[in-house]
Amino acid sequence: MKPHHIAASALDAWVRAIFTAAGSTGDEPAIMAEHLVTANLMGHDSHGVIRVPKYIAWLRAGEVLANRTPTIAIDSGALAVIDGNFGYGQVTGRFAMDLAIARARAHGMAVIGIRNAGHLGRIGAWAEQLALAGLVSVHFVNTSGYGILVAPHGGSDRRLSANPVAAGAPGPHGPLVLDIATSATAEGKIQLARNKRERLPEGIMLDGAGQPTRDPEKFYATPPGAILPFGAHKGSGLSFFCEILAGSLTGGASSHPANPTAHRLVNNMMTIAFNPEALSGAQNVAADITRLCTWVQASPPIGADGAVLLPGEIESRTRDTRLRDGIPLDGETLRQLDAVSKDLDIPLLPAVEDA
Ligand code: NAD
Repeated sequence: MKPHHIAASALDAWVRAIFTAAGSTGDEPAIMAEHLVTANLMGHDSHGVIRVPKYIAWLRAGEVLANRTPTIAIDSGALAVIDGNFGYGQVTGRFAMDLAIARARAHGMAVIGIRNAGHLGRIGAWAEQLALAGLVSVHFVNTSGYGILVAPHGGSDRRLSANPVAAGAPGPHGPLVLDIATSATAEGKIQLARNKRERLPEGIMLDGAGQPTRDPEKFYATPPGAILPFGAHKGSGLSFFCEILAGSLTGGASSHPANPTAHRLVNNMMTIAFNPEALSGAQNVAADITRLCTWVQASPPIGADGAVLLPGEIESRTRDTRLRDGIPLDGETLRQLDAVSKDLDIPLLPAVEDA
């Protein structure tokens, strides 16, 4: 099937209509739309609207709940833990980051845990929210046992989650954002390759027998395959500590299959946010970051068409292109979105097939 392009505003309106039809009220449909469409705009299609059918399926199965208000479960000023009460992660994440901003401004830094949230989506969104508020932050995420996908270094089957890590800082031209899974790829990218009937690069996956494979179908076969950690023992070790920081410390628990939330997809997150003003001063920090960016970017490109990109730069370039040209959706993804539209009795996406 040919790819299609759709304007971000039309996609945003469609996502709002879907979540409204699925029972969300207040600003919940707008929060969902803003997060998912921004993920597509930034080029992280794996965490964009492709997730909508899954979120609606989880909602119907009672694994995620609409219209939940996050609560503050632990609070000692600079340190707090938010319980998402199994509501949409996009709602919990925004609530928690608003608190992180307030607490880091009051105390110089904030440590904000999230437990029992639905899928927190593109984790870079949370680093970006804090960077736009002038804060520097790091974020460690784990997933309940439901999300076990990754083989530990040296192992051959699923024991860990994709466990993303993000970091953000205000930069000279907008937020600097590192946003990476500790797995060699995010699971959504395997799903996307499957929808597009493409093979993945070498070194990403093992099949159900623990052998290397590039075929996305083998990942979803019985017995299932596993994603490898990025950077061998380094990604594996970082993922392990995501389990402890985001899971064990917040009370959300690790990816162990016997944990109480293993039957539903739950994301837990540990955020540490710093207010530069309380450290070496916002102006000094900004000046040093600018100097660092200039220095790093001045490295002569390794290839003829190469360039040194700053963390988050590829996303902001993609956003500019997609705001102008529309968001590409492959035929299979569009078919899945149309099925949700029909199911919830809302108009189909007005996608235009490329010539
Ligand atoms: P990725 O491999 O695309 O890496 C993205 C990061 O690398 C960004 O910070 C980007 O700016 C930087 N980058 C990319 N190309 C670059 C270049 N040429 N030079 C310099 N920097 C560059 O991301 P990923 O690991 O596949 O993760 C994709 C998304 O999946 C992320 O948004 C992540 O948060 C999300 N995710 C979420 C969960 C969850 O449980 N909620 C789990 C896994 C992943």
